[in-house]
Parts: sequence; C-alpha cells; structure tokens
Amino acid sequence: MKSENKELAPWQWPEERWRAIVDRVRAGRSLRPAKWQGGARCAVALSFDSDHETNELREAGESIGRLSQGQYGNRQGIPRILEILHRHGVKASFFVPAVTALLYPDEQRRVAAEGHEIGIHGWIHERNSELPLEAERDLQMRSADVLEKIAGVRPVGIRTPSWDFSPNTLAITREMGLIYDSSLMADVDCYELMMDGQDSGVVELPVEWIRDDAVYFNMNRFASLRPYTPPTDVFEIFKREFDAAYAEGGLFQLTMHPHISGYRSRVWILEELIRHIQGKKDVWFATHADIVRYAKAHAAST
Ligand SMILES: [Zn+2]
Repeated sequence: MKSENKELAPWQWPEERWRAIVDRVRAGRSLRPAKWQGGARCAVALSFDSDHETNELREAGESIGRLSQGQYGNRQGIPRILEILHRHGVKASFFVPAVTALLYPDEQRRVAAEGHEIGIHGWIHERNSELPLEAERDLQMRSADVLEKIAGVRPVGIRTPSWDFSPNTLAITREMGLIYDSSLMADVDCYELMMDGQDSGVVELPVEWIRDDAVYFNMNRFASLRPYTPPTDVFEIFKREFDAAYAEGGLFQLTMHPHISGYRSRVWILEELIRHIQGKKDVWFATHADIVRYAKAHAAST
C-alpha cells in the first residue's frame, strides 16, 4: 500500500486502490447444482456455534454471571438441540472454539458420535481482523489440532468467530487444506472464493445475519441491547427463508447458538422448523461439509 494513498480520503482513491480492496476476497463462480443428493430440490444446512463461555472470555471478561450463561450452552442448550436433531434424524454442523472443546471434551465427543460435523470456530472466539498474521495462523492451526485430538476427526471447514474475516484468513484456510469456509455473505448458494482475482480452491457456504438467532435474541444488561423480536417472529423469518429456498430450488443455511436458543421458550423454533421442512418432499438435510462436497462435484456449468 502506498503511503500517499493511505492519506487520501476514500472519495480521492484511485481506481486501483478500491479495486484491490474489493478483490482481496470475492465471490467467484456459483456452485449451485441443478439437483441435490438423491434428486432433492433443496439442501438444508443447519449449524450451531458452540461459543459458550468464549463470548465473555474473548473480551477479557471475567463476569461470573455471563460465564454461567455460557455454561448453560453446555448443560442445557446442547442436550436439548441434540435430542431434537436425533428425534428427527437430522445431521448438522457444530462450529466449536478450541477453548470450548477443551472445557467440554465430552460434549464434542457426543456431537461427533451422533454423526454431526465439528468445524473450526477460532481459539477463544477472537476477532481475526485484530490479529497479526502469525497469531491468526497459529491459532487457526492449533484450533484444528485441538478439535481433531478431542473429537477424533480432523475438521475440514471453518466458520470465523463473529464471521470476522481478516485479509489473511482465506490464505491460511487454503494453506491448511480446508475445503470450505462458512463466514461470508455474497450469495444464497455455495460459491468459489476468489483471492486477488484467482480461484482459491476454497468453497464458501454462505451465512447471513438474517438467518442467525443471535441477532434477534442477544441482550446486554448494562446497555440498551434487548431481544426485540419475539420467538414466533424469528420462526417466521427462518421459515420464509426456507420456503423461498425450497421454491427456488437451492440451499437453506441456518446458524443458531446453544447458549442463545437452547431455552424452553425458544428451542421449539428449531423443532418446528425441522417439522415444517420435513413436511416437504425432496429435501436433503446434510452437514456443511457434505453439502460443499456435493456442490463442488455437481455444480451446473455456467
Ligand atoms: Zn461464535
């Protein structure tokens, strides 16, 4: 980066400057298959980010109250979610910070034993964009090692904590040989991730804040952040996202958190949604990894 460019205001930037920023990480070819596995018209990718205590720890917080909310994710949230998934025969993906896995190894072993995927979700839910390259690289690699050691399966995908993506994240993900990322939002279908104009070989399975429970339910006792959206409305939003994906014949991806949605008044959203989806024909529930593998192998040529 030229120093004189840094001092310019964005409206003064030469074209090459803003193009280089936009091109660092960019959506390339869509990887939308004509049909999903078994001839399904819609693929359903449910995911759960097992942040637990790391949301407090990553802020250097030591609040015993907030840590107890994180522990609820392990004691109540995960078991309630796993029971629902088991009852309906649904496989899903769990993105787990290494610190969560070290706090709760038995939880990870149970998740893996029940046939779900475990993916990388940072070390302590750190913000990648605040880290120097070497620290980010070291944490991402150590996180994969911890998950593999505990759950017995090497992760093949990453969801960056808070979907925070540094200019180095994709290069590290590629270097690690991961097959996919699930932190970006450029499409509703899987796509090739381009890095500086070249295909990185990493597939994006896109997320969106709209399909994330935290947006609607988070609260902060000492700030004005409150859950302003009733659970019935959250269900309605998720249902509409699925209904449109089904109508278009595409992918429905959802992100939930055990310590946010694993409550008596909220966890029904997951079960009602699964019931609604299973009431439709030709739907394929799968882990993020399986969906990415299928999309990569069967993408319609464009
Ligand atoms: Zn998270």
